Amino acid sequence: MRYGLVGASGRMGGEIRKAFASHELCYTLDIGGETCEGTPEVMVDFSLPSALGATLDAVRRFSCALVLGTTGITPEQMDEVRYAARTSAVVQSFNFAAGVTLFKMILREFGPLFADWDAEMSETHHSRKKDAPSGTAILLREALGRDCPTHSLRMGGVPGDHTVFFANEGEVFTLTHRAISRSVFALGALRAAEFAAGAKPGFYSFEEVLTCGRKTS
Ligand code: NAD
Repeated sequence: MRYGLVGASGRMGGEIRKAFASHELCYTLDIGGETCEGTPEVMVDFSLPSALGATLDAVRRFSCALVLGTTGITPEQMDEVRYAARTSAVVQSFNFAAGVTLFKMILREFGPLFADWDAEMSETHHSRKKDAPSGTAILLREALGRDCPTHSLRMGGVPGDHTVFFANEGEVFTLTHRAISRSVFALGALRAAEFAAGAKPGFYSFEEVLTCGRKTS
């Protein structure tokens, strides 16, 4: 598979190169400019929201698929991504860890059982993370489908911890996901890219990738 990488010089850019070692990197884009040595079948973007316009231009130019992991993108930018999905396969997720997708599915299925409990969330990330709350907190909140005050900590080198707390007068119940290494996101992006390279145009969640393209909600 030939792939392109936006945010090629970043931390995730480095992890993606390692995880995609058996594939051919033929296009890169970062603030320093672009390199192009072929036509990518899939563009992988882990950068900043300000790069999204250039990423979508490149996806159009190469008629390729897109795996989008960048967080902090606005609802208007998400509309542009969905527009691109009319002609390209797009897999978008704020978290490419398989465990977070399971977390989301558990909250969607069992969250209603906690309807009369208080619910709050905490998320901890490394001190260089730009957006808060994290994209993952937003997707978990959406899966829970109710108001859930969210507390963001930015410290050290933490790749990403998310905890949902439920409490009533006598009990506290918590669910936690912890990413031990950034490489887990790159391995998920690899799975998404291999899926997208063979998929019909459309907008796919990582959950659909893990469940072989079946729409689950
Ligand atoms: P980083 O700051 O190390 O890397 C970002 C890279 O993007 C840098 O090399 C920077 O120069 C480049 N960049 C910035 N603006 C650009 C522009 N306009 N055009 C081209 N390149 C530009 O950050 P990181 O830790 O690698 O994370 C990158 C993104 O991935 C963030 O949005 C982060 O939240 C997200 N992320 C997503 C997941 C996921 O699973 N979806 C997991 C981890 C990180």
